[in-house]
Amino acid sequence: MLSFIDSHAHLFLPEFKEDSETVMQRMMDAGVEKVFLPNIDSSTIDDLLNFEKRFPEHAFAMMGLHPCSVKENTDGELNIVKQQLSQRKFAAVGEIGLDFYWDTTFKEQQIAAFSTQIDWALLYGLPVVIHSRNSTRECIDIVRSKQTGSLKGVFHCFSGTADEAHEIIDLGFYLGIGGVITFKKSTLPEIVKDINLSYMLLETDAPYLAPVPYRGKRNESSYIPLIAEKIADTKNREVAEVARVTTENAAGLFNF
Ligand SMILES: [Zn+2]
Repeated sequence: MLSFIDSHAHLFLPEFKEDSETVMQRMMDAGVEKVFLPNIDSSTIDDLLNFEKRFPEHAFAMMGLHPCSVKENTDGELNIVKQQLSQRKFAAVGEIGLDFYWDTTFKEQQIAAFSTQIDWALLYGLPVVIHSRNSTRECIDIVRSKQTGSLKGVFHCFSGTADEAHEIIDLGFYLGIGGVITFKKSTLPEIVKDINLSYMLLETDAPYLAPVPYRGKRNESSYIPLIAEKIADTKNREVAEVARVTTENAAGLFNF
């Protein structure tokens, strides 16, 4: 039986309210032993922490403010994140970053919130989980400005160019690879082909971005092997090797 880690899934969201028990059972039956849960904002913290409490051996919470929730009340939101980080240990500061796809109204606030939360990750010695939609370049530049040697993390759902992938690796960061790699028109296989497995994490980003043949449906952590198989095909490797190396990568990054 192969063993995997889902480095990024929002299983605490309402999409899973009715059947989270079954979703977690299917995850474990698929060999996915651990799932890391990125926070969104203050409205999701209770559900996140309750979910983690229900599956203590398998689900691990991160804490952070998602860039899509950076709006008028960013200071209040950041204060809550800061308070949470000071209260207990989290797997990572996440998810944080920039999203210039939906809305750039709060661009400056997004940049400031990202920067502040990276500082907190450094303060607590935690990795960062970065959302970089339509902003890979800007996220790389900010990470570079903060990288003094101890900053670690992952560009979740990596969607940049081959050059950007190499810049991220050179900064000591991982690439989070999810269901997008199975999509017909994805450019990810071309990029992943030339990148060593030791720089990759597997992720679903459930409930979003389900891999083929579930594209468009609700995603869940039990689909991780489909992503691993696609990476194995692309790189002409055994799935077992993809499972082993990406599991080591995630366990090392999150220190679990
Ligand atoms: Zn996410």
